[in-house]
Amino acid sequence: MTPRPQPAPVPGSAADRPRRHTGPTPRTEAEVWAVLRQIPDPEIPVISITDLGIVRSVTLTGRVARVTITPTYSGCPATGAISLAIELALADAGLRPVLETQIDPPWTTDWLSAEGRAKLRRYGIAPPHAAGPDACPRCSSPNIRRVSQFGSTPCKSAWQCDACLEPFDYFKCH
Ligand SMILES: [Zn+2]
Repeated sequence: MTPRPQPAPVPGSAADRPRRHTGPTPRTEAEVWAVLRQIPDPEIPVISITDLGIVRSVTLTGRVARVTITPTYSGCPATGAISLAIELALADAGLRPVLETQIDPPWTTDWLSAEGRAKLRRYGIAPPHAAGPDACPRCSSPNIRRVSQFGSTPCKSAWQCDACLEPFDYFKCH
């Protein structure tokens, strides 16, 4: 008699991976926020998801952490990866994550934190701006032009600075 085949573990699910060593289980909403601040954006790991400004609210009831996020736009392919990263980080911290998505009001680039903007610039990525990038993130020259609608990821477009001649990415959204 052949053994019954075991169901394959779902790749990336919390069950098939060891729990990472983390600090004590958060007991306050501020401590949950601290966990979320450690989660890098999947497309642009230099900024965290809280820098990106997509976490709307956090409530903690016992061990149940309810987190509401607003995708940068509906249908954004990074949203699934972000939701999974939040669930895994909270599960690792000993919490039971409950994720909710709120699409109204929609995310705007204004929600990107000042720290997030500074991190993008340090990383050589022009932060989002209503009318497109206004200056080269390296030399601050306004003599810039777009060379491609898509940069290293679909969230970015490729630009060129005519002053320092450096190419740079512009963060559009997700
Ligand atoms: Zn430049």
